[in-house]
Amino acid sequence: MSAVNSPRYPLILNPNARSERAERALRFLMANATRFAIYASSSPEDAVELAQRFAAEGEPIVVVAGGDGTLNAVVGGLIGTKTILGILPTGTMNVFARELHIPFAHLKGALEIIDGGKVKEVDLFEAEGTPFVQMAGVGFDAQVIEETTSEAKRRLGPLAYIVSAVKLLGAKPPRMRVTFAEGKSAEGACVLLGNGALYGGQLRLFGKADNADDLLDVLVYKEAGYKAALGSLGTVARGGYEEDGKFVEYYQTSGLTVECDREVPVELDGELWGRAKRVRFQAMTEKLRVLAPAEQGKNWWEQVLTNLLPGKK
Ligand SMILES: [Mg+2]
Repeated sequence: MSAVNSPRYPLILNPNARSERAERALRFLMANATRFAIYASSSPEDAVELAQRFAAEGEPIVVVAGGDGTLNAVVGGLIGTKTILGILPTGTMNVFARELHIPFAHLKGALEIIDGGKVKEVDLFEAEGTPFVQMAGVGFDAQVIEETTSEAKRRLGPLAYIVSAVKLLGAKPPRMRVTFAEGKSAEGACVLLGNGALYGGQLRLFGKADNADDLLDVLVYKEAGYKAALGSLGTVARGGYEEDGKFVEYYQTSGLTVECDREVPVELDGELWGRAKRVRFQAMTEKLRVLAPAEQGKNWWEQVLTNLLPGKK
């Protein structure tokens, strides 16, 4: 594609990011400045408004350059519109980009995915009216996010969360009651929700998750397993995680309500949403349309089999 014919995408940028990654991203944007009309957002609300405006103006594609927080805001602005999201992952974790197999350490590769034009439809969920696209958490994990400073995130990357988790080991766990839309209920001390499989970076926490099956995958950590749950953050960081019914239960649901014995922090897409005693999560009717690599999660051999065996997905 020649530069003259290449589309110029409106791009929403979080200019407050101050990491080495963010500086590399700025250099990349400057080197490819003819490909973007760059708009800096001063806040998440601003990013929502910019995305809404581009969608209202009929832009077919809006690109976000940022981490999961900025991405969450732009997704919020695009809900219910025809505009497709493109992602240049420039944050610390980039969980959603990793989930979609968008190159997260290689912005040229990410731009090629946007130019490639392959659209994936992804489920959206909301907590009390606020949308999220990748993950959410009630209690312990949100507390970790609340207590992990951005300075630590810059210095330690994904490890920062585990360091904060270890510091919280002594705290008394809250009690939570989870009621699922299908009628079941559960009790625990911490609830994690996954639209996709990945949580907090490369941690494959929700082994059965599919972000296009209309279901949310839910882990309920039992009170007895509170410390084990903290430990499992380290386990999953080392590459594996198996559900253990004693300490944690795995559910798939179209929606749920979490009620706690005290106010606890809630995180959505890795950003602190607030504190609450009761939070309701449910599927949204709208889907996100996002540019992503084709044949996600399939290796070359699976792709060959898929092509050889029509009808086998
Ligand atoms: Mg799902």
